[in-house]
Amino acid sequence: MTQRTWHIGLTGGIGSGKSTVAGFLARRGAAIIDADAISRSLTAPDGRAMPAIAQTFGSEMLSLDGAMDRQAMRERIFRDPQAKRQLERIIHPLVSQVTAEQAQVALQSGHRVLVFDVPLLVESGERWRKQVDRVIVVDCDTETQTQRVMARSGLAREEVERILAQQASRSQRLACADTVLFNQGLSFDDLDAQVAQLAADFGL
Ligand code: ADP
Repeated sequence: MTQRTWHIGLTGGIGSGKSTVAGFLARRGAAIIDADAISRSLTAPDGRAMPAIAQTFGSEMLSLDGAMDRQAMRERIFRDPQAKRQLERIIHPLVSQVTAEQAQVALQSGHRVLVFDVPLLVESGERWRKQVDRVIVVDCDTETQTQRVMARSGLAREEVERILAQQASRSQRLACADTVLFNQGLSFDDLDAQVAQLAADFGL
């Protein structure tokens, strides 16, 4: 019997443990497709979005190496909200295109569980939701998130709180979840055991 294919969206606020869970799922045989990495690659030197970005926004949005100048773009978007929509109109279809290519490669190499690691899945509305069969949310309380990010990055509490305030709230994220992995007060082994249970549902 051929095993069915699963498209799973994996999300969680910063510091929730989403990347850790993605790593555990990969070890069990899932293919991980990293939406942020795809998005960054598009605006790297020779990235697929760069010709359209140069044409739309001009050379002042380019760094010397030909990548998008992120700081300049942030300032431009701050002054002109329309620029954000223009940039998204360039980036989103290319993210979809590269995502589809990577999914194809994963299927061809025999993977039957594709995990789309999308930090801003909930913030994207229907865009990602409609591409996946299930949404897994990695969850913990905001104080735990804050502590983990401070420890990992060395950022001050206020900076971490500012980042958290820009993301969807915990309750908004939970409302989108088909499955919640509560990653708090757990050792890595405990978390891995929970991931194993979940993975079994998808035939891993
Ligand atoms: P995210 O991808 O959601 O930002 P990470 O998986 O990178 O989160 O985890 C954030 C930090 O918290 C990392 O340093 C990670 O090692 C740590 N961490 C995650 N889960 C646990 C846990 N159950 N126990 C201890 N530390 C954890």
